[in-house]
Amino acid sequence: MGPSNSLPVVVAGGGIGGIATALALRANGYAVVVLEKSAEFGEIGAGIQLGPNAFHALRTLGVADEALANAVYIDRLMMMDAVSGTQIAAIPVDEPFRRWFKNPYAVIHRADLHASLLARCKSDAGVELLAGHEVTGFTQREGGVEVQTASGATFRAAALIGADGIRSRVRELVVGDGAPNISGHVCYRAVLPIEQMPETLRLNAAVLWAGPKSHFVHYPLRGWKLFNIVATFHSAKDTAEQLNAPGTAEELMGHFGHLPPVPRSVLERSDGWRRWVLGDRDPVANWTQGLVTLLGDAAHPTLQYIAQGACMALEDAVCLRDELSRLPGDFSAAFLNYQDKRITRTARIVLSSRAIGTYFYHPQGVERLVRNQVLGEKTPEDFYRSLDWIYGYGRDQAA
Ligand SMILES: Cc1cc2nc3c(=O)[nH]c(=O)nc-3n(C[C@H](O)[C@H](O)[C@H](O)COP(=O)(O)OP(=O)(O)OC[C@H]3O[C@@H](n4cnc5c(N)ncnc54)[C@H](O)[C@@H]3O)c2cc1C
Repeated sequence: MGPSNSLPVVVAGGGIGGIATALALRANGYAVVVLEKSAEFGEIGAGIQLGPNAFHALRTLGVADEALANAVYIDRLMMMDAVSGTQIAAIPVDEPFRRWFKNPYAVIHRADLHASLLARCKSDAGVELLAGHEVTGFTQREGGVEVQTASGATFRAAALIGADGIRSRVRELVVGDGAPNISGHVCYRAVLPIEQMPETLRLNAAVLWAGPKSHFVHYPLRGWKLFNIVATFHSAKDTAEQLNAPGTAEELMGHFGHLPPVPRSVLERSDGWRRWVLGDRDPVANWTQGLVTLLGDAAHPTLQYIAQGACMALEDAVCLRDELSRLPGDFSAAFLNYQDKRITRTARIVLSSRAIGTYFYHPQGVERLVRNQVLGEKTPEDFYRSLDWIYGYGRDQAA
């Protein structure tokens, strides 16, 4: 079976991971059907940070120019002590950073990123995008997979890629590791028009205010019209995952009373809060079964603390593209090679994200003082070296 085979590859899920996968499959000449359970293809939430490693992936997928048209190129990642209001550390992401990693750091509205990838798929007759199709199961048969959906429709496919997110149905059937781990961390998300952002905080930076068992982040979006606001805190009462529910200012401000007045006013002025209960999964050593594999959050969902979940999904898509081009038509072997290349790296992101939350973002008492000293001593080059494993990935092939 090869690209000349008439069966398409089915991708379950049309988020950033699924749509990038469709592009990766098209680069190898496969017809693709993307089945998305929601009534429409789209993205929930506002901003997303893209490290230099995501730029390389977008370039390789041939969509960098469109995808980054609305990106804001920030020049610093700043960490502030939310108790004292003083700066703990700043990582310049300006020219020296760009030279080191051979690509910039940007922030972008996730709808803009998703829409540009989707537009490329829509303009390609080889991609069929079917919304309102929830994948419920699959059966592997000689030379192909039958994919079942909630409506009763079935699709015959050369292979199936589950890009169906943290609660992936395809993962349930391939890995079977139950529900995600609930971290007890709750995240509130909103956007604030620039006029309402305090002038001293209208910074061309991703700024993180690290406080006791909590932190919040702000950065500019969409040509500086908006600021993306993401506030996270520990919550013992939340034991089940929750996505995009309405949030209340009372609950949020109850966790951020320690903030000095100016950063506190950012949270007070924001409204339309959406509430997420965050989760991840323990890394696994296998996420492939014959002609079926996983990608993005379905394979390795992570807490967002190093802002790499979507970046990993884009890297996965590039890796899949490369492995399929080495073994045309041999999906089972290519999928195993793909997961071999991706498991350690993505597991390191998952485990490091947990550790960063505990040791860098949320410490209190003496641990907070140690954190401030450890990070305060670092030079930009120290940071570049310690971030090299994340952002340097793919640098040597970067255009
Ligand atoms: C608060 C927060 C901030 C973040 N910030 C960043 C950041 O700055 N940088 C970064 O790189 N990452 C960030 N991430 C992570 C990033 O959002 C995710 O890792 C990324 O969006 C995962 O994409 P995906 O396509 O794998 O999964 P998803 O975006 O979850 O997409 C899965 C798709 O599959 C569909 N689906 C689900 N089940 C089925 C089914 N059975 N059949 C068909 N379709 C199905 C869903 O409707 C959805 O459209 C953040 C995450 C959070 C929560």
